[in-house]
Amino acid sequence: MGSEASELPRRPLNGDDEIGNFFLTLQWPFSYCNVHLRDKFTCFRPVPGDFKIHGLWPVYRNGFWPINCPARELEEQMLKNKKEDIAMEWQALEPRGGGRDYSNLKFWKHEWEKHGSCSKMEEPLSYFLKAIELKKKLKDLKFDENAGIKPGGTRFTPKKLIEIIEKNYKVKVNLRCNFNYADKTVPQLIEIRFCFNPKFDLSSCKPITADKCGCGGEEKEILLPDETSLLLEKTERDEKDEL
Ligand code: AMP
Repeated sequence: MGSEASELPRRPLNGDDEIGNFFLTLQWPFSYCNVHLRDKFTCFRPVPGDFKIHGLWPVYRNGFWPINCPARELEEQMLKNKKEDIAMEWQALEPRGGGRDYSNLKFWKHEWEKHGSCSKMEEPLSYFLKAIELKKKLKDLKFDENAGIKPGGTRFTPKKLIEIIEKNYKVKVNLRCNFNYADKTVPQLIEIRFCFNPKFDLSSCKPITADKCGCGGEEKEILLPDETSLLLEKTERDEKDEL
């Protein structure tokens, strides 16, 4: 889907593989779940109403986005008694071939193998706890509702949101948008990507171009959907069930 980590070059530009920064990618669950009609609604209920972690992704100084580095395989027991803490902030929103616990583990394995393996952190547990710690640094990610950034139908521009976050956190973030299954006219925010330097201090992300972020441009209107954006799917499915 549109939120995949696909927009940065994957080939080294000059062979330098030092990590330049980490993206902590936060995901807005309703925007992940309301595009997933496919054959039927797939997310676990209830869908969380706050930002959750999608991943912690290293990027090299030369701009190369490394994936699938050689590293140890994630096994459940490596997460010790931290699984619940991790799942509070970083959870599979939809089943990945099983129930919640199985799906979480599968999602974590995917993120560890693809991105964590290149983070230069040897222990998977350290990688997951680092992501949780970084998200906690951001505290409660709330926006200024007076400025119109609130879940529901209110529209705002990417520029406005980036400015508000910059006011609160003193850094620039990247945004990503996608479309609700039922409404392809107004892009919806699906991700906020915060950048951290290799010492894990919050730092500004380089801006990404409008075509890469899916939001249509800094001055275009977007929205942050709430749970009512899932209702259409439910209605359609219920109708099918009733036939
Ligand atoms: P990535 O490869 O890190 O860009 O992650 C993309 C993959 O992770 C896709 O298969 C997505 O469907 C899946 N994914 C992303 N977020 C979630 C989530 N919250 N729950 C389950 N799967 C997810």
